[in-house]
Amino acid sequence: MFALPFMRRRSRHRPIPILAYHALHAPDKDYASNDHVALEEDLKLVRKLGFKVARLAEIAEFTWNRAPSRLDSEQWIGLSFDDGTDFDYLDIEAHPYLGYVKSFYTILKESGKGDGRDWPQPKGTAFVIASPEARAVLDKTCIVGLNQWRDVWWAEAAQTGILEIGNHSWDHTHPTLDTVAQRDQRKGTFKGIDNLADADAQIVQADEYIQRLTNGGAARLFAYPYGETTDYLIEEYFPQHMQRHRMLAAFSTAGGYATRESNRWNIPRFMCGLHWRSPEGLERILREAMRM
Ligand SMILES: [Zn+2]
Repeated sequence: MFALPFMRRRSRHRPIPILAYHALHAPDKDYASNDHVALEEDLKLVRKLGFKVARLAEIAEFTWNRAPSRLDSEQWIGLSFDDGTDFDYLDIEAHPYLGYVKSFYTILKESGKGDGRDWPQPKGTAFVIASPEARAVLDKTCIVGLNQWRDVWWAEAAQTGILEIGNHSWDHTHPTLDTVAQRDQRKGTFKGIDNLADADAQIVQADEYIQRLTNGGAARLFAYPYGETTDYLIEEYFPQHMQRHRMLAAFSTAGGYATRESNRWNIPRFMCGLHWRSPEGLERILREAMRM
């Protein structure tokens, strides 16, 4: 059997853009200032250009498992949501100035309605901050203090098969917290997580809590707070302590495509508001993947 030159190209998979959104980012009603509006619009574009949405766990596995995958053919994207406020899963019925705001979950579910043959149900991962104490503080310092950063919806969301729950650290080393799980109290950066004790406190402790609240139904995927990786985590902690942390892959916000060559502990994502701010901006990212 001889190989025609073009067959090489056909057998090589297309790079996969993984998109990241923040439910918190909703100061107004237009695309550029509301990630919910952006996601709803973006799903239409994704579908129009012939992409489908794969689960993040499937894209992650694609980076280390050499077995043939459905991701080897066609065009795929992944979807993720960082920080995990209630609005990932629950609609806002009457926001003071935005009115009714659809949760990311509702937007995904509505997008999947109808004939699923050319457009399977889109699925996404909500990367949540685990610590209940941290979330109680962040609810007051980052949003309006109405107790909207809860974990009561995690188990139900995980069961839907549409919005899975992932690990976004114990406390995000957030600057507005009195104390964080980092030995020198370095806040506002994840760069201080460069040793075993702090990595366990941020990653293992978070996974244990998240798995307990989802009856073991959470994804074993990690998203770096601030998108910030450390050499220690990528080269030592994640690859050498898999029994300990039980994570399968980790995601940054470096603004690149996931491929078979991606490092599973440093899979890049594109972030709404940073790497694109309009449907045209996203279209450039998608069309680039079609060309490569
Ligand atoms: Zn975050």
